[in-house]
This record gives sequence, structure tokens and C-alpha cells, in this order.
Amino acid sequence: MKQEDPAQLWSVCLSELRGMMPAQTFATWFERTKGHDVTSDKFTIEVPNPFSGERMLKRFHDKISQVVTTQLGRQVSIDYHIFEGNTQIVPVLTDLPSYMPADDRQIAVEEETDNLYDNYTFENFVVGECNDFAHAASLAVVKSPGQQTFNPLVIYGGVGLGKTHLAQAIAHESKRLGTVDRIRYVTSEIFYSEFIESIQEKKTKEFAQTYRNVDLLIVDDIQFFCKGHKDRTQEEFFHTFDVLRQKGKQIVLTSDRIPKELSGLEERLVSRFEWGLLADMKLPDYETREAILLKKADKDGLSLSQDVIAYIADRVASNIRELEGAVLSLLAYASLSHCDITIEVAKRVLSNKIRRRQRSVGIEDIQKAVAGHYDVSVEDLVAKTRKKHVVAARQIAMFLCRDMTRASLKDIGVIFGKRDHTTVIHACQTVKKLLLNDEHLQEEFDRIKNSLS
Ligand code: ADP
Ligand code: MG
Repeated sequence: MKQEDPAQLWSVCLSELRGMMPAQTFATWFERTKGHDVTSDKFTIEVPNPFSGERMLKRFHDKISQVVTTQLGRQVSIDYHIFEGNTQIVPVLTDLPSYMPADDRQIAVEEETDNLYDNYTFENFVVGECNDFAHAASLAVVKSPGQQTFNPLVIYGGVGLGKTHLAQAIAHESKRLGTVDRIRYVTSEIFYSEFIESIQEKKTKEFAQTYRNVDLLIVDDIQFFCKGHKDRTQEEFFHTFDVLRQKGKQIVLTSDRIPKELSGLEERLVSRFEWGLLADMKLPDYETREAILLKKADKDGLSLSQDVIAYIADRVASNIRELEGAVLSLLAYASLSHCDITIEVAKRVLSNKIRRRQRSVGIEDIQKAVAGHYDVSVEDLVAKTRKKHVVAARQIAMFLCRDMTRASLKDIGVIFGKRDHTTVIHACQTVKKLLLNDEHLQEEFDRIKNSLS
């Protein structure tokens, strides 16, 4: 079939191309393209922006070329242009060979994404106040990888708060949308062991090439680079980092704490990690805990009543993995016993998990941790003193006791120097309000809480 009208030609080509890729990929990259001009030896496609033009060329050029040739019945070159009205504006993107750097074409880098969990997607990630910044930053990286302001993206926070989930969601989504070609997701342990192996096998060049020729590199748990003697690994990672960033390739890292607190990490790495965007993951607040429980239960086909959800959300607060653990225990119980999960059943099934936490965190532990953190004595906390910094520490300690133990308001009041339960209520309300508005306090609070759980 011959089609010399550019719009018609492209529309026929698009219907062919649509069948050649996942619907989402097609929608992302092709919906806003147009057939602009066709001559005896050239077909010009209009793309909405340079990023999209670059993608077309790098990822879909062969397919497009094949489909256009078939439709026209002759070979033409294909150009991707950006137009404003009928005026062509920069840049003019032409065929592949002149555009891609030589190395990139020669080295076939295997994608390393088989090691991703299928479930760790954005779809399965519950967004709450504790993680919305990291979530938004992750989406931004997927949408426009390699942008200086997001490069690297460092996601940091305590255990079980969703760092790995988010990092893998970036890989899944980038792959699904086709925003990058070569993705490599590794833990820092894998990076380390592959590097050591490459030294032993005298293949350090190949190792370097593998890592330096990806479009998106994700390294999970970089704190591992700080343990033991990993100078050469850090050195290698430093070079990998620089090469990738210079080429405008995206780097995503996760860490259990903010990079500058990673003792044992080379200074030049710390400073590089701060070039991009640091996004922290905080402990989940009550509403997020509820939302996560609902989502997990729903996914497992487990129906949980509001009071059971509230019971768990109230008591399992230290991290998200534990929330999942609670749902799994209930699921196992429900499928074995075929009975509904009432609040009594939940209490019984989860008694181990919840009691264990009770035993491990007592009011005394909290008092000690808070006193240590704020450099006051435990005696001060329970004394009558109204010195400002002691009052602040006392209120935080009371709030933590309420949050992490089963002690009643009255008990807490008594333990904190025979105070009335209304004083405890007031303390809890004050801290809650402050936590919402004061990021610094939030960080301190998370740190104390993490040290306790
Ligand atoms: P980390 O890497 O920070 O230790 P993970 O990413 O391994 O934590 O998360 C622990 C578990 O909790 C995982 O199973 C993950 O799927 C789940 N999880 C964490 N955050 C969320 C969230 N916001 N929504 C849903 N599930 C989550
Ligand atoms: Mg992890």
C-alpha cells in the first residue's frame, strides 16, 4: 500500500506499531507524535519534546523504520523533529549512527532486572505523610531520568520502611514505560562481590564496562560499603558514579541513614551523594499504617474489620514489614481454621508479636533513650522542674510511652512524677502537633524510636 499523505501514512504506521509493544509504552511515547512530511527519500515525524525524540531514536527507531518502509514500499530515512506550528525548532534528530556514542553501540549490556520482586511496584506502594516526598521524587526520576537535580536520588531511612520497595518500583516503572533502556538493580553486596570476583578473574575492565554502560543504576543499601575494608570497592564505585553522572545517566541509591552519617564512607562519595536529591522515609503514621494494612489484606483476599485494623495499626508501629507480618499471620490462621478474624482472634493470633514488642520496649527504656538523646537525666524527666528543654523531653517521652507501650494515660502520669492523666493528654497533643510541622523534631523522634525498636 502506498500512502503519501504524512498524517495518513503515520496513522497507518501507528496502528501497526501499537501491536508491537505494551499499550502503556505505546501511549507514553506515540500518542503525541504526528506524521509531518513525506518526500521521496525522507519521512519527518513530529515529536512533542527533545526527550521524546531521543527515546524514539534510541528505542523505537528500528521498528518505526521497518513499518514505514513496508507501508511506503521504499526505503526512506526518518527524522524526528520538534515543531512550533509549522516552524521546525531545534534539535533536529537524525539517524542513529551519528547520534549515539560509539561505545554505547558496541557493548551489549545485559539488563539486570531479573532480581526484582514483582510486587514492589508503585501500584502496591501506599503513600502517606511518612514517604510522600520519597515517592514523588521516585516518580520524577522515572519520568525524567538523569536530570541533575535528581541525580543521584538517595532514599534513606530505617529498616522495613520501604526503601527497597521504592527503589525497585523505579526499576519496574522505568522498564514498563520505556523511559530508559538498560537498567541495573543491585544491592551493594552484589556490587562488592561482583567486583571482587572480577579482580580474581582479572576482568575488572569488563566489570567497569558493565556498570558504566547502563542508563539507570540502582544500588540498594549502600551502608554496606562502609563495613570492613572496602576501599577498592568504594574507589570503583566512585568512578562508576562519575562516569554515569557525566553521561547524564540516572543513579538511585538507598541507605539506612543520611549519607553524611555513614561513617567509613569516603568523603568524596559523601559529597557526591549530596549533589542530587536526598529523600527520607519516616516511620509510618497511624493513618498510613491503616491504609497499608487494608491494602495488604485486600491483596491477600483477607477481609479485616475496622476494629481489627485499628487494633493492629495501634500496636504495630515500628515498621511496615511488621505490619505485613501481622497480616500474614492472620491470613495463615484464617485459611487453616476457616474462621473469620474477629478482634479476639486477632488478639490471640498476634499475641506473640505484640507481647514481644511490649517486653522489649518498656517505659524505662523510653525514659533512658529520651534522656540520653536530650542530655537530661531520667530524674529530671520525672521531677517537677519546668525548665523548657526538660519539659520538651518529658513530653516526647510521654508521647512515646503512649505510642509504644500499653501503659494507660493514668499509669504514664504516675510514672512521670505523679502527674495527672490530663497532663499526659496535653503532652501527647503538643508533640503530635509539633511533629506535623517540625521536620527536625520528626527526624529526632524517628531516631529515638528506631533506637528503641
Ligand atoms: P527497607 O528496604 O526500607 O528495609 P522494604 O522496602 O524491604 O524496606 O519494605 C519492607 C516491606 O514493607 C516490604 O514487603 C514492602 O513491600 C512493604 N512496604 C514498605 N513500604 C510500603 C508502602 N508504603 N506500601 C506498601 N508496602 C510497603
Ligand atoms: Mg531494603
